[in-house]
Amino acid sequence: MVINCKEIADEIIMKSKERIEKLKKLGVYPKLAVVMVGNDEASKIYVHNKTEACEKAGIETEEFIYNENISEKGLIGAIENLNSDPLVTGILVQMPLPKHIDETEICRAISPKKDVDVFNPQNFGSFMLGNKSLIPCTAYGIIKILEYKEISLSGKNCVIIGRSNIVGKPTALLFTNHDATVTLCHSKTKDLKSFCMNADIIVSAAGVPKLVTKDMVKPGAVIIDVGINRDENGKICGDVDFENAEPLCSYITPVPGGVGPVTVAALINNTTELAYSKII
Ligand code: NDP
Repeated sequence: MVINCKEIADEIIMKSKERIEKLKKLGVYPKLAVVMVGNDEASKIYVHNKTEACEKAGIETEEFIYNENISEKGLIGAIENLNSDPLVTGILVQMPLPKHIDETEICRAISPKKDVDVFNPQNFGSFMLGNKSLIPCTAYGIIKILEYKEISLSGKNCVIIGRSNIVGKPTALLFTNHDATVTLCHSKTKDLKSFCMNADIIVSAAGVPKLVTKDMVKPGAVIIDVGINRDENGKICGDVDFENAEPLCSYITPVPGGVGPVTVAALINNTTELAYSKII
């Protein structure tokens, strides 16, 4: 069955909206600063989706768009201004950044108190250690999708393809905390198929079209396709050969309209959490 992720995203956004309405009655008006560098078309679409979701939830947004020649120092200065602006609740820096800017330094510059994406090493470290922290957006979204469909992780064999700090690693940690047995695969994994064939749940976040084919899927498995790619015709697609794998799965997320909108909803949830932390 194809999971209706739009429904899940809407539910998360509506819950945040209710919480934000309560905050506004207390005089707290959440605002997300969206920082973008350059003119990347994909980034523009992501930023548009995020600001649109903020609007639905009642979160004000302000975009700060810089020329792609901005220096690292200049960008850090701009972020520091937002860090000290009392009207800004959260700061989102749209990745990727131009090559001359060190993304790690930019993540370090975002105040941990305004870090909606859990990019700052202090926040990411707290999350990995299991201390109180926000949850990285895509990992949060994946857990919400599974919860919504009442798919338990306990005792399940899960294969996560991709070990990035943004998706693979946080998802592996969350799954482990939910009592799953996790295999984290990557580009050097030998015989990816043998791992996938034994998986109850496959999360693919490699960014490779048709990486997961039907012969890799155990009948009844759940597939969460995180990848956002373009196929040979320029059409958006995930990492999974959807057409052929779908009939074998108990559940599968589509691309587009799958993990993407739920990740955006997770961003709204995290911004709401940061706004609440101001009054606690
Ligand atoms: P990265 O490029 O940072 O990481 C990709 C990971 O996949 C790496 O660990 C890499 O291995 C692994 N990998 C690449 N090729 C293969 C292969 N052939 N077999 C097995 N593993 C492989 O990407 P991100 O984590 O940032 O993003 C992954 C995908 O998810 C992209 O398509 C991105 O657009 C999408 N994405 C979607 C989101 C959403 O909301 N839906 C959010 C974030 C990302 P190695 O470490 O060895 O290089």
